Amino acid sequence: MKYIIITGGVMSGLGKGITTASIGRILKDKGYDVTAIKIDPYINIDAGTMNPFQHGEVYVLMDGGEVDLDLGHYERFLDTELSSEHNLTTGKIYRTVIDKERRGDYLGKTVQIIPHITNEIKERIREVAAKSGADICIVEIGGTVGDIESMPFLEAMRQMHGEEKREDLVLIHVTLVPSDLSGWQKTKPTQHSVKALRELGLGPDVIVARCKEPLLASTKSKISLFCDVPEEAVISVHDTDNIYLVPPLLEDENLDEHLMKLLNLKALKDGMKWHQMIERMNSAEGHVKVALIGKYTHIEDAYLSVNEALKHAGIESGCTVSITWIEAENLEDDPEMVRCLEQVDGILVPGGFGVRGAEGKIKAIRYARENDIPFLGLCFGMQLAVIEFARNVVGLENANSSELGDTSHPVIDILPEQDGIEEMGGTMRIGNYDATLKKGSLAHRIYGTTKIVERHRHRYEVNPKYIDQIEAEGMIFSGKNKNRMEILEVPAHKFFFASQFHPEFTSRPGKPSPPFRAFVEAMLGG
Ligand code: GLN
Repeated sequence: MKYIIITGGVMSGLGKGITTASIGRILKDKGYDVTAIKIDPYINIDAGTMNPFQHGEVYVLMDGGEVDLDLGHYERFLDTELSSEHNLTTGKIYRTVIDKERRGDYLGKTVQIIPHITNEIKERIREVAAKSGADICIVEIGGTVGDIESMPFLEAMRQMHGEEKREDLVLIHVTLVPSDLSGWQKTKPTQHSVKALRELGLGPDVIVARCKEPLLASTKSKISLFCDVPEEAVISVHDTDNIYLVPPLLEDENLDEHLMKLLNLKALKDGMKWHQMIERMNSAEGHVKVALIGKYTHIEDAYLSVNEALKHAGIESGCTVSITWIEAENLEDDPEMVRCLEQVDGILVPGGFGVRGAEGKIKAIRYARENDIPFLGLCFGMQLAVIEFARNVVGLENANSSELGDTSHPVIDILPEQDGIEEMGGTMRIGNYDATLKKGSLAHRIYGTTKIVERHRHRYEVNPKYIDQIEAEGMIFSGKNKNRMEILEVPAHKFFFASQFHPEFTSRPGKPSPPFRAFVEAMLGG
């Protein structure tokens, strides 16, 4: 197994996750199977309980793991499916070590950070890497070198560095090269962060410098001299407005060749798929505007995967997709806000929790339905579409979700335990579940099959008691898993489609999610 360890310096938010994913991509394009592990040094066991305000979206994996959004970048760039084991946190490591201690596994020894915690970290990394069957495993250490929390992980990497063969482990340090007021590129922060890394016994093989404009040759030589890496190992990654351009940027800097040399590997092929995707992206001619009605719209990362899935669909359909972020609450109290909806080609209501903004989202859905504007609802978006339809078409005036308030018509509810159906009654239904699609439906047409598997993250469901009443009025449930409703559509409408699952998590550049693709096509007027 070959390992590439990625650390970060100077400050957070440098796009280390995207750099990691892009490094994986350029190696994959050389013919190697690449997997990735994200280490989050926080104490939380996983990201499931984290507020999107702080960390961006909670990304959901096929096995139901609720993880950091960087895992989403890895899956998209590497076109792979990862499991929750690919996200290590301090919480997970300590929990295992404490459990082992309680079981007496350590035979009465004093349990310490070195060696017990560091051994556990190394074991987990090696196990996950081996299980993945990949040739190369990239390990991204979250946070910034010097943080107290990441110390045990960096120490574990130092030990691994000594234990693995020289050609089997490469260290890459991602850092920032800011420019001063007169435009000079400043290397001092990089020098300091490399120094901090060296104090921990880790010397970088490669330095990836994030910068506004490409690094000047003189800046590269300075970093090379002061940080003791060859000039060819100082890689410039300047800001781009599109993250999918980072892999070709790394190739222009010859990072692929350099890594092949360090890892003693030969290129098995020269992958063109990514380049073809970029060409399609750059030759897009059309343009569509979609309104995204959300709750955290001032932080785009809160809906990162939805944003990316729209991009992927645009690339395939030859158009760019711009998003108008609309704060759902503003639709509630400001009727003028509805005007914004007049200017878009489609309306998207993504997943969500809780009552804040729900009525605004319902208003937007009503507007889409009544004005025949393409509509895509995801999870909460589907539940609210059922509520809107039940209230305004079926005539159940106070229809609601039991998540949102007391109602005599809980059209969305937590279903009671029923024969043959597991996990009901309060726990989240999370990860991969299948759905059977109705022959001849829009769902069947866009997926091209009647059996699908998609990722879920929800607690509430469409209440089966109301289905006949709703279907009698023209909204049909075209995707089901036993008595759970997975997809709804309104056949009389131009494009009105919503899913209980989250198709955004499996969308990839070059392989867009079918509902997103169909939504963008509908916005284009197709
Ligand atoms: N709040 C809803 C539920 O728990 C929808 C969840 C979501 O959109 N992810 O079922």
